[in-house]
Amino acid sequence: MTDALFRNFIDGRFDEPSATFDSVDPSTGTAWARMPAASEADVDHAVEAAHRALRSDPWRRMTATARGKLLVKLGDLVAANAGRLAELETRDTGKIIRETRAQIAYVGDYYRYYGGLADKHEGAHVPIDKPDLDVTIRREPIGVVAAVVPWNSQLFLSAVKLGPALAAGCTIVLKASEDGPAPLLAFAELVQEAGFPPGVVNILTGFGHDCGRRLTSHPLVSRVAFTGGPSTARAIVKNTAENLAYTTLELGGKSPVVVFADADLDSAANAVVAGIFAATGQSCVAGSRLLVERSVKDEFLTRLKRKAEAIRIGDPQDPATEMGPLATLRQRDWIEKVVAESIARGGMLITGGTRPAGSGFYYAPTIIDAGGSDLPCVREELFGPVLSVLAFDTEAQALALANDTPFGLASGIFTSNLARAHRMARDIHAGVVWVNTYRVVSPLVPFGGYGLSGFGREGGLDAIRDYTRSKSVWINTSDEPIPDPFVMR
Ligand code: NAD
Repeated sequence: MTDALFRNFIDGRFDEPSATFDSVDPSTGTAWARMPAASEADVDHAVEAAHRALRSDPWRRMTATARGKLLVKLGDLVAANAGRLAELETRDTGKIIRETRAQIAYVGDYYRYYGGLADKHEGAHVPIDKPDLDVTIRREPIGVVAAVVPWNSQLFLSAVKLGPALAAGCTIVLKASEDGPAPLLAFAELVQEAGFPPGVVNILTGFGHDCGRRLTSHPLVSRVAFTGGPSTARAIVKNTAENLAYTTLELGGKSPVVVFADADLDSAANAVVAGIFAATGQSCVAGSRLLVERSVKDEFLTRLKRKAEAIRIGDPQDPATEMGPLATLRQRDWIEKVVAESIARGGMLITGGTRPAGSGFYYAPTIIDAGGSDLPCVREELFGPVLSVLAFDTEAQALALANDTPFGLASGIFTSNLARAHRMARDIHAGVVWVNTYRVVSPLVPFGGYGLSGFGREGGLDAIRDYTRSKSVWINTSDEPIPDPFVMR
């Protein structure tokens, strides 16, 4: 039992939780804090508070400009508190402090971006094709939003939902993952400090089968924004059969990084390391399939192996550490199983495949020469530091291999041939294409996938539109009585 206790934030208050569970520090494998386990009744309470806030003053009548100012203030608070939030995220998920600090400071920019957009999202006036009518299209907030996020990059994954939703005038119940919820529950204090009216933003954590299920099927929820794995997404789509909520899904990936022989190989090797070993591979955009032109394969793998073996693995709170543990034991068990099966079926281990000595859920940077496309390490999303390597001889083969996956989230192309870069970018089935770079994001740019990587886009201007619906208002401008009541005008 530990002393640190976190609380859910519902209707503007942090109440004593009725049930709790232990959260484990993945770098030691020991419990360090108790988290509130939201019940179905807690979810009902939160959704009802959000629904009340949506329909009441001050939120209902607040101008878009005033909402925008609140968002900007929240962004400033996130940036100012990035260090404290980063320490919590690192403690609770094992993601290295080097990355959590930088990433959370940048999350402030997402709130500022959507704060700035809040009063620039306009409706329309229609040049209607009938006389004596004036038609306007209002964009109204869609309603109560249920946002569900996984444990990795959760402040970031929440900002791309809360930012546009609040800019649009919606209210929200955000469910943090049961794995590593501490930073989001601490972020709730900043929502309170920014001055959002009670009930506008509610943040809780709990388990998927009860809390998550109730939230995404709740009759007062009109919009579900989910980030997580494809199998949970299927459960959520079934849940939304209850409330018919408009849903967007940001799911996993098996993203290809294609390295042509004419690329700057050292820069490409750094990008591959960033793509698969940063965040211990626990990134939806992890570049987990390396497709390398056969003529440079040996040379490239030699560089990559050297870089992978030089990665400093250790305490995620130490700023010198480059790779921390996996977030959960369950995650490591899954990775070990897939790697063992892949090697048993002919995959050749180039480096890694082991647990470094000591406690905590660590796993070494691993590279497997897969030979062909059918090994489990090539097909399954591992969400860990495991790179599968395939070779190609022609651009057409590279493209076919890149698209040989049911996922389609991110991709990387490394070449010095501009025309080829354009061809590949056009033909690759993925929502994000990075050319001669990898793992770059911005609030200004839409993000989302094809196929099993989900649907909907987060980030960019259009994301606000996704949290609104249109209302068409027809006004008769004639003083004459309505003509023939039996004929449609
Ligand atoms: P997960 O799908 O297991 O869990 C995500 C969330 O869903 C958690 O909060 C969980 O409690 C909740 N949940 C589980 N069952 C539920 C149910 N029946 N109803 C409602 N909610 C339920 O995902 P994870 O293992 O925590 O995270 C890893 C996955 O997330 C990977 O597949 C990764 O690629 C994906 N991901 C995608 C993106 C993206 O933007 N595309 C970003 C980060 C992570």
